[in-house]
Amino acid sequence: MSDVQADEQSIRRIDPVSMARSERQLRIEISLSQLARLEGLILPPADEEKVSAVFAFAVNAEGLSCVDGEIRAQVRLTCQRCLSPLSLPLLSDVRWALVDKEDDLPAGYEQLQTEDGRCDLRALIEDELLLALPIVAMHDINDCAVAEQYRQEILVEEARAADEPTQRPFADLAALMAEKDKATR
Ligand SMILES: [Zn+2]
Repeated sequence: MSDVQADEQSIRRIDPVSMARSERQLRIEISLSQLARLEGLILPPADEEKVSAVFAFAVNAEGLSCVDGEIRAQVRLTCQRCLSPLSLPLLSDVRWALVDKEDDLPAGYEQLQTEDGRCDLRALIEDELLLALPIVAMHDINDCAVAEQYRQEILVEEARAADEPTQRPFADLAALMAEKDKATR
């Protein structure tokens, strides 16, 4: 099994079948500033801020080329409560399989997107980070620069919501709370 540090250009046209056959592992570091779609949604990253990812390619028992990977980044967003910067870790575990149609996917796997038998790992990494971004980013209430009075109101509201988890009158509120939990974790 070979473990390779991949550069930014070579990961844009990966041959997943040959990588799986030779059970390659890839370690990738990309500057956040290289990911234009993501960069438009976050506060400007420092030059040295990197996305790091590890991918293991293998052929499974059914003969499918599979990729297991982990993608990590630290991004800065604007807190939607106090409007000051918020540093948030993004973490995504991926399991991709190369299949012609989704019906053939092994359980727990997603279809690996390829073009002419190649995949653009850089674009896939960026897709995963975009999905990992919270819709509404907020500090933990105890770390937030929001005014004290507003803080008390939020704490009362959260306590009420925690007491009545099954009786929320508005489905939208439940979704909002879930997003808030995610953003402040
Ligand atoms: Zn805040």
